[in-house]
Amino acid sequence: MTSFGLSGKDSGVEHRGKPAGVFLDSSIHITRFESNAFDRKIHEALKEFPWKGTASYTKVEFGNVILSCAYYYYRKLEELGDLEKLCDFLYHRLRYNNKYRQWSYSILRETFNRDEATERAKLLLSTLMATGTAYISGCCDEVRDGIRCGWADQRVGPRIAWQRPNRPRNCRITEFFEENKPLFSQLRDTIEQMPEQQTRELEAFAKLIEQACKDVKVLKSCEKCRELADAIIAVESEGYKAFFTQNIRESDVLCRPLKQLLLYLQQDSDKPILRTDYRP
Ligand SMILES: [Zn+2]
Repeated sequence: MTSFGLSGKDSGVEHRGKPAGVFLDSSIHITRFESNAFDRKIHEALKEFPWKGTASYTKVEFGNVILSCAYYYYRKLEELGDLEKLCDFLYHRLRYNNKYRQWSYSILRETFNRDEATERAKLLLSTLMATGTAYISGCCDEVRDGIRCGWADQRVGPRIAWQRPNRPRNCRITEFFEENKPLFSQLRDTIEQMPEQQTRELEAFAKLIEQACKDVKVLKSCEKCRELADAIIAVESEGYKAFFTQNIRESDVLCRPLKQLLLYLQQDSDKPILRTDYRP
């Protein structure tokens, strides 16, 4: 099996201050739910790392994709009363809405017996909502929470939608930005130095970081902490040697000032891909 050069003493647990393990991006938590095949590959890849970390903000993105979808499915299933009708609705009415469609495969996969299918699907969805973001804490050794955004620990249930909090009283986005200003500025500089790898998201990060450096008050809402999501997650991952993501285009740029190895899975390969060209 491939070794990522992180064996022995360098592999994590003894380095809590500066962990050398792997940092899991939101896209990894999400992918594990969306595809059994990728879940297995991710599980294999993680065996190489005795220390796994993530950031609380990945919970926000997990909620926005997985938990909000579970809520939507549950409510729609109650409204239509039958799994077959729900699947029909998802396949035909939501044909162009990938966000909701992708998941119907997982529900079908979990419910083999037609008679029990509807009840089993409801049970699956309500269990998922009850577990909520605790799933993420459960699969990592460390969840960094410098931003302490209340959004990350919201509850969701059959009668409670996953949504952005109205008043972000608990979000430390402005303090977090001030504390990590040099690193945020480095991220902005790297984005600007790589125009050939520019994406709309990266451009937006650079612009917002620039504005916040002049006046941090522009960040004073959870709408803004969401706009900076991947940049916040990148900053929280500081000190980790490897960054595991499926969000390659942005991370390929954001990993550079952090001098991290970029780890991702390709559709047609069982092996995780390791980018070493800017290895520290
Ligand atoms: Zn926030």
